[in-house]
Amino acid sequence: MTDPDPSTRASSAASPRRAGGARDDDLHERLAALLDGVRDVGGGEVDDSVPQLAEADPGWLGVALARPDGSVTAAGDARQAFSIQSAVKPFLFALALADTDGAAIDAVGIEPTGEAFDAIKLEVGTGRPPNPMVNAGALLTAALVDGGDADGRAERILRGLVAFAGRELEVDDDVAGSEMLLGDRNHALAHLMRSEGTLHVGADDAVSAYARACAVLVDAEALAVMGATLALGGRNSVTGEQVVSAAIARDVVSVMATCGVYDGSGRWMREVGVPAKSSVSGALVLSVPGRLGAASYSPPLDPLGTSVRGAALMEGLSRELGLHSFDTERG
Ligand code: GLU
Repeated sequence: MTDPDPSTRASSAASPRRAGGARDDDLHERLAALLDGVRDVGGGEVDDSVPQLAEADPGWLGVALARPDGSVTAAGDARQAFSIQSAVKPFLFALALADTDGAAIDAVGIEPTGEAFDAIKLEVGTGRPPNPMVNAGALLTAALVDGGDADGRAERILRGLVAFAGRELEVDDDVAGSEMLLGDRNHALAHLMRSEGTLHVGADDAVSAYARACAVLVDAEALAVMGATLALGGRNSVTGEQVVSAAIARDVVSVMATCGVYDGSGRWMREVGVPAKSSVSGALVLSVPGRLGAASYSPPLDPLGTSVRGAALMEGLSRELGLHSFDTERG
């Protein structure tokens, strides 16, 4: 079948990771149709918290799906690179749980905040971050991974993300530098956690490791595989590597479900019904437990930091593939 829109292609067709043949072609057509359905959805602003994010083309739009057989099917700008930003947070949480033998679960809370992702607020009484999906929590989980110092932790985080993605990734040093320079609220949160005794590394070290984690370059295809690794018991379906235990994957996906879309998590769960994490770069990563991982990329964001077209796309995908966790009519 010829593709009417050359910008919308089955990247799986050119990928060594491809499996599934006709089934893939059909899925690609369905993804391409979903993209076309949301292409004209307007509204939203491209994030400008760091200059590199502000340079994104608001028209970029891509989606990818990773399944248990190791196949990755994509459409649109699914190979457009972007910095992972907050979509890294579930994976930082997973790595922190793995490196602390689960103790990270007590170091961060797991309750939704109802506040912005960078709110300068810790849990009353404990001084813990409210959950690992907001900045305070991710600064702490980045500090809890093995590594000795900020460089060591950044390297351990990068290697961990590579294992989740099943392919080489790199840090964009310019983005990391901007995050370090302009992330005043992250510096404030790190100092606040130091003062509460909940952060045990230097504040600059914590911000540096987190900034470099946010600056890792991915694309929708890589992010879909990362989401699938969490969805499928911590095992990467492309490489076969057991990246984290199934128990850790379950913990992480549970917290994505309740806190992953910040204070838009309730609405997200009603409309899409799939554990997910949003990101200021305009990415969304979804983990459908036991079934698949998915990711989208479209830079314009709503006021809560969720990609406007990404959310519309994922609502359509959830409906199309019957992914909603609380579909009470599923047989
Ligand atoms: N690097 C961003 C920050 O720390 C990530 C925020 C996000 O993606 O929601 O402010």
